[in-house]
Amino acid sequence: MKKLLLFVLTGCLFSAFVCAQDPKDTEDWSKKPAIVTPGCKHTPPSDAIILFGKAKDLSNWASRSGEAKWKTGYKKMTVNGTGDILTKEKFGDCQLHVEFRTPSKVAGDGQGRGNSGIYIQTHYEVQVLDSYINETYYNGQAGAIYKQSPPLVNTSLKPGKWQVYDIVFHSPKFAADGSVTHPATVTVFHNGVLIQDHYVLKGPTTYAGVPKYSQHGDMPLLLQDHGNPVSYRNVWIRKL
Ligand code: MG
Repeated sequence: MKKLLLFVLTGCLFSAFVCAQDPKDTEDWSKKPAIVTPGCKHTPPSDAIILFGKAKDLSNWASRSGEAKWKTGYKKMTVNGTGDILTKEKFGDCQLHVEFRTPSKVAGDGQGRGNSGIYIQTHYEVQVLDSYINETYYNGQAGAIYKQSPPLVNTSLKPGKWQVYDIVFHSPKFAADGSVTHPATVTVFHNGVLIQDHYVLKGPTTYAGVPKYSQHGDMPLLLQDHGNPVSYRNVWIRKL
């Protein structure tokens, strides 16, 4: 019995000696992360591209046919029936921060109430809607990937309150022949709550029919004019 115990003990000590590894072996010193100063309250992080900030400045935006003509006011811009607006710069993988406000005066219902949209890469809509006690199809309510994925929860604030989307988007990747090698993915936080968890998009947003990818590179961010006076502020993006 003593011999057996000694044998086991010796074996354990030997194993511990042979298997012991230097903790430094698993330290990664190969790539130093860049230093980014985080935002504070309503300010963006230091490496963000500010698409719409404090000024009444639409110079980063265009309409489909020329100049962007949304109404600008103190720290905000508002849909006014002049059509969608698009960023002049094109983007790929990104982190996007958008604050929006649906009208305090409730008018219409369903899809007709506070409707706008954030079309990432011009093609992929994160729905903006007044979804505070407002029934519509679930994959068309606020925070839905329109007609594809309902939000995990409805965390909409009352009409007239400023709300926030924080979005992480990875653009689709295509082979030379145009076939999809990696579909687009999107993660969305609505007012700090996770509502889309790395959703894999079926293709571009379509109002009717089945989404189908077509090859594209970096594309502008588009904000939708759906005829309702939705306001936006503090729109910034980080390239990933
Ligand atoms: Mg919309």
